[in-house]
Amino acid sequence: MTSEQANRRRILLKISGEALAGDLGFGIDPKILAALATSILEVQSKGIETALVIGGGNIFRGATLQKAGFDRVAGDEMGMLATVMNGLAVREELKRQGGKAVLMSAYGIPSITEQYSASKGRELLSQGLTVIASGGTGSPFFTTDTGAVLRAIELQCSEVLKATKVDGVYSADPMKDPKATRFEALSFEEVMQKQLKVMDLTAFALASEHHMPIRVFSMTKSGAFMRAALGEREGTVVSD
Ligand code: UDP
Repeated sequence: MTSEQANRRRILLKISGEALAGDLGFGIDPKILAALATSILEVQSKGIETALVIGGGNIFRGATLQKAGFDRVAGDEMGMLATVMNGLAVREELKRQGGKAVLMSAYGIPSITEQYSASKGRELLSQGLTVIASGGTGSPFFTTDTGAVLRAIELQCSEVLKATKVDGVYSADPMKDPKATRFEALSFEEVMQKQLKVMDLTAFALASEHHMPIRVFSMTKSGAFMRAALGEREGTVVSD
């Protein structure tokens, strides 16, 4: 680790497409978009470099049409394009609120996005821009959770912050089981042993192999994103 790396905090926020839809259930709720951009800019104002990966589930998921016999590869390509659409929305909202942001894509859409590049991304993050890495991994059969872990490793982030509906990892589904308890910290091994759901297996294996901590937290809980971004006590941290 260089001294420059040691002195800064760089995080990657993973937010699902569904979170952008809010109560609309589909597409993008402008209120949620505005709140997301505001909270990202607040975090950056504390000197925390912020990369962002957004899902596409609010618009399209490849697996949905596959069930009706549609080609999965084309479906996943549509899903990846959905993540670019969400990325465009967040970039524009960040700019509207006075921020500086760049939208990168795993595959070329030259008139709309920049081609994803880890070295360019690192450079822009160190200059204080929000780097939105859209298009997932650029390959079908993967998820944006895997894309998030991959980009966090490439961009030398210290943590993936996974925003969910609940404020951490629980022993059971807290929406269904009132006795479910929340973990404050877990090792990758404990998550496997207890068969807890943090991310899909591909994303989880990648994080574990590359020692990339994942913090699960609630995006709707007041102040939670800031505390998580600062590395304070918030949500559940899964690490070595
Ligand atoms: N996708 C893909 N490769 C990737 C990331 C995403 O093919 O690396 C496609 C896949 O069809 C997926 C859709 O894009 O269903 C949207 O991503 P995801 O389901 O991860 O979005 P989220 O659930 O986070 O909204």
